[in-house]
Amino acid sequence: MDALPKCDANYVALTPLTFVKRAASVYAARPSVVHDRVRFTWSQTYERCCRLASSLRSLNVTKNSVVSVLAPNVPALYEMHFGVPMAGAVLNTINTRLNADNVATILRHSEPKVFFVDWEYVPKVRDALKILIKSRGAGGEGADRAASFLPLVVVIDDINSPTGVRLGELEYEQLIRRGNPNFIPEELRDEWDPIALNYTSGTTSQPKGVVYSHRGAYLSTLSLILGWKMGTAPVYLWSLPMFHCNGWTFTWGIAACGGTNICIRNPTALDMYRNITEHKVTHMCCAPIIFNILLEAKPQERRPMNSTVEVLTGGAPPPAALLQKIELLGFHVTHAYGLTEATGPALVCEWQAQWNNLDPESRSKLKARQGVSILTLADVDVKNLETMESVPRDGKTMGEIVLRGSSIMKGYYKDPKATSNAFKDGWFLTGDVGVVHADGYLEIKDRSKDVIISGGENITSVELENVLYTHPRVLEAAVVAMPHPRWGESPCAFIALKTNTAGDSDKVDEAEIISYCRKNLPHYMVPKKVEFMQELPKTPTGKILKFLLRETAKNFIVP
Ligand code: ADP
Repeated sequence: MDALPKCDANYVALTPLTFVKRAASVYAARPSVVHDRVRFTWSQTYERCCRLASSLRSLNVTKNSVVSVLAPNVPALYEMHFGVPMAGAVLNTINTRLNADNVATILRHSEPKVFFVDWEYVPKVRDALKILIKSRGAGGEGADRAASFLPLVVVIDDINSPTGVRLGELEYEQLIRRGNPNFIPEELRDEWDPIALNYTSGTTSQPKGVVYSHRGAYLSTLSLILGWKMGTAPVYLWSLPMFHCNGWTFTWGIAACGGTNICIRNPTALDMYRNITEHKVTHMCCAPIIFNILLEAKPQERRPMNSTVEVLTGGAPPPAALLQKIELLGFHVTHAYGLTEATGPALVCEWQAQWNNLDPESRSKLKARQGVSILTLADVDVKNLETMESVPRDGKTMGEIVLRGSSIMKGYYKDPKATSNAFKDGWFLTGDVGVVHADGYLEIKDRSKDVIISGGENITSVELENVLYTHPRVLEAAVVAMPHPRWGESPCAFIALKTNTAGDSDKVDEAEIISYCRKNLPHYMVPKKVEFMQELPKTPTGKILKFLLRETAKNFIVP
């Protein structure tokens, strides 16, 4: 057959913006966003997004301008996922738990035209702006120069905001009121145009700005809602921050399904349980650390679970022991793996029906594996980086996890060197070390920087942490390398204990943990030192900051 003539006239760019327009027409009266007493329908949400986009245009926001936002999971942040790109701009959601210095660094790098700030973060942003001004030269002429690069600040108020929290002249609802409800966005000519700019959480290095395209966001969104078998009208609880990879694309995804977004400011045990029962939540996403919050909830914070809640977890390795416990509470867990550079989740531990008949422990062990590509979202492999050969499917040979495909970023913003270092032969190098099992399922063993090399043996911290999490009193555990005069490196465990409940033995000390590990691990893997902490240091998305622990462990003397 001859090739059909190429016809550019019927090219329609892939973009998640189409989801909200369709939701407004197909599910007009369905609830779209709920936050405390605030409730919108899909036709209202679409109209508010149009108004936002038109107001941004009137503020000089044009194609590819950056619009930043620092806000928790409130309706305004949800609306920005559509309203900002409808104005042609790029949405930069900033991590709310960063300090003023980090926020200033991101603002300096991303140079937003408009900066939306939730009332809760006004003091932090005041400091961040001062740091920004100082870094550009303060006083006199410097002040004028400063004014030209400062973004226009717009505060987001809501029903919970105390009066008098102000920064700048404008408020979000003012922009909504004065915007054009019939605004028509310019047609997207190129689906590779940027839609979002997300900074990595910086667990292993300085945060880098990852650029998402409309195409990548569209494909990731569809793959996730299909891969997770979300169905129509899910009731989705926002326990995962929307600032984290645009809420793993479910910001766009809930519109595609005509679902309902249940917004909460903080994922406290009380707010999660209360909203789950009140709104009959069907789905939520979270890092494994949230399971501890749900499991450790006080009796007065708990609510009976009337039906199963589907949970997608990832962002850090979920210990098998934790998966088993959370499922007993009425949550059904799907495990995914991904990273900022992959527009969120890229792999899923696709469940096989024959695993249902296994005992709970074996099931959780299988579920703790990172799995296979979500549909065919990204091509994934585990390779020896020197030869670029795939490792055998033996569950033993370790290699680096590499990805390629439409959902993988085009590059880091204004950082060509970091971009070229991140790829080899067209593959994105994740920096994660894994193995492939005989059934083709991939399992992460560690981050390449976290592998402990002791006397020539590779010890993966994840394996050791999995054992520590089976100890009944361990709440949080992380293992890092400490210097060892004979072995080069040896494992050092940092542990936060659960508060003691009646019946538990009081005595959980270093000797007890070491002897527990001896019973469950080969001798060379047993930690040589155990350090107890009240709580382990974490990133805002709940990942344990291992580089901080490594710094501490450097000073430990092997006992
Ligand atoms: P950062 O790299 O700064 O932590 P990301 O939020 O992009 O920022 O984190 C991606 C990393 O998180 C992955 O490279 C991997 O190490 C870890 N990760 C994500 N999901 C999982 C998972 N399901 N199991 C184990 N590790 C995971």
